Amino acid sequence: MVRLVLVGPPGAGKGTQAAVLSERLDVPHISTGDLFRANIGNETPLGQKAQSYMDAGELVPDEVTNEMVRDRLADSDAQKGFLLDGYPRNTAQAEVLSEILGANGVELTAVVQFDVPEEELVRRMLDRGRSDDTEDVIRRRLAVYREETEPLLEYYADRIVKIDAMGTVEQISDRAQEALRGRS
Ligand code: AMP
Repeated sequence: MVRLVLVGPPGAGKGTQAAVLSERLDVPHISTGDLFRANIGNETPLGQKAQSYMDAGELVPDEVTNEMVRDRLADSDAQKGFLLDGYPRNTAQAEVLSEILGANGVELTAVVQFDVPEEELVRRMLDRGRSDDTEDVIRRRLAVYREETEPLLEYYADRIVKIDAMGTVEQISDRAQEALRGRS
């Protein structure tokens, strides 16, 4: 049983690695970005709340995000473990996650940090061509990462597993799986 959080700057390849690792480790891939995008696509009230923040590269407010994650983690498939991609994004969210897990008497197995040089990040994001991947929004998302999300590396210092995220998808996921061996 593994309960993982993936942390890394936008463009680090977290989403791709999360998809591969969730398959290999047989746990659901829970991406808050994907959940928001699905809600926007379905024109739900949650999607309406999230849209303007996402378009600007800002974080969606914590109350909205935390409740969405709380609901998702209560689903039956998440009881066998999970891989969180894009959450938590700040220490306030990390506190809420600890509280949710603590109430269930469980804790995180590890926090996987994807390490990529900055110039490579911008190149990868411009390649991806998502609607929030324009240069201004990319810069804002990187700044938000540095200001809000990077402090999580300190917060989770005792369970960080740092992965060199340069290379092919397979090389990187092999590295991650190797580094996680013995922890589940
Ligand atoms: P991502 O797909 O993880 O890059 O997320 C895309 C966008 O969704 C982010 O730029 C935020 O606007 C929003 N988002 C995703 N996850 C979170 C989160 N944990 N907290 C707040 N906003 C989030």
